[in-house]
Amino acid sequence: MKDIIIIGGGIAGLTAGMYAKRAGMDTILFERMFPGGQAATTYSIENYPGFVEPISGPDFSMKLEEHARKFGLEILYDDVNEIIVDGDVKKVVTDGQVYETRTIILATGASPKELGLNKEDLFRGRGVSYCATCDGTFYKDRVTAVVGGGDTALEDAYFLAQYASKVYLIHRRDQFRGLKILQDRVLKHEKIEVLWDTVVESILGEEQVEGIEVRNVKTGQTTRLDLDGFFVAIGIKPNSELAKGKLDMTPDGFIIGDESMNTSVPGVFVAGDVRYKPVWQLVTAASDGAIATLSAQRYIMENFG
Ligand SMILES: Cc1cc2nc3c(=O)[nH]c(=O)nc-3n(C[C@H](O)[C@H](O)[C@H](O)COP(=O)(O)OP(=O)(O)OC[C@H]3O[C@@H](n4cnc5c(N)ncnc54)[C@H](O)[C@@H]3O)c2cc1C
Repeated sequence: MKDIIIIGGGIAGLTAGMYAKRAGMDTILFERMFPGGQAATTYSIENYPGFVEPISGPDFSMKLEEHARKFGLEILYDDVNEIIVDGDVKKVVTDGQVYETRTIILATGASPKELGLNKEDLFRGRGVSYCATCDGTFYKDRVTAVVGGGDTALEDAYFLAQYASKVYLIHRRDQFRGLKILQDRVLKHEKIEVLWDTVVESILGEEQVEGIEVRNVKTGQTTRLDLDGFFVAIGIKPNSELAKGKLDMTPDGFIIGDESMNTSVPGVFVAGDVRYKPVWQLVTAASDGAIATLSAQRYIMENFG
């Protein structure tokens, strides 16, 4: 039986893993895709303390993994399908195996929200993308659009403008929510055209994205924009399916955890973007991960001697 099983290999999970192994806990971490989670899809990180120069998301993620492995963290690349959390011994179920553990740390993070448009799902990977840093280079000298008004949308538009011939930045309001420094970069970029008060009505094309139809919410006027790449950056939704019906959650699916990362079930802890909290950032996810492990350690001492 393991001491701690961590689900999710983003910064929250990897930090939890690093703390756990350093404290001598028998720990494994499951990751279904790649280490770093959302950080690995980020163009440039400028606000993580200690990194004075901007660092790319993939480089940052490699460092996180290297740091956790340095302390001997075992990372298994597998999808966790189920957690069984009643009783003192918890179970983590993957396709082929059931693992027993004293504690679980859920660090499953978040995924991009979808707009819910026609053909959005159909054209995913054929012009519709949720990750400019992953797919942006495919659009060299092509026309693209980004939807959103927060930090991610602003960063995505700026990133795409390095490659694309033009970037429409479509926002439903008349001002951005994102950071001032990012707004300034976007607003003065010659390749970026901001469409204020505008929503996307539909995605156009036969086999792939050929354009979109947009509507100005103030005038009601609709316009067709011909383009090749359509990037959606309207926020995140928590990856909390494993916890449904088992842990207390908010109506929109964030897991409720207290300051010590305890969930509603003793021995199950939560960390990072999947937790309900005011700020979803790298630095807060790392902090959650560290606290979750220290709480798990205390729980094991108190309950298993
Ligand atoms: C484009 C973009 C730019 C950003 N820029 C910044 C920035 O500059 N500065 C900043 O501070 N923050 C930034 N953020 C936010 C930051 O990336 C997140 O707050 C942080 O990555 C959250 O980390 P996490 O470990 O909680 O979750 P995630 O990074 O989402 O990692 C969760 C991991 O869990 C895995 N997982 C999920 N379910 C399962 C399962 N069932 N089985 C196995 N594995 C599973 C996922 O594959 C994923 O790797 C950005 C986010 C995005 C999307």
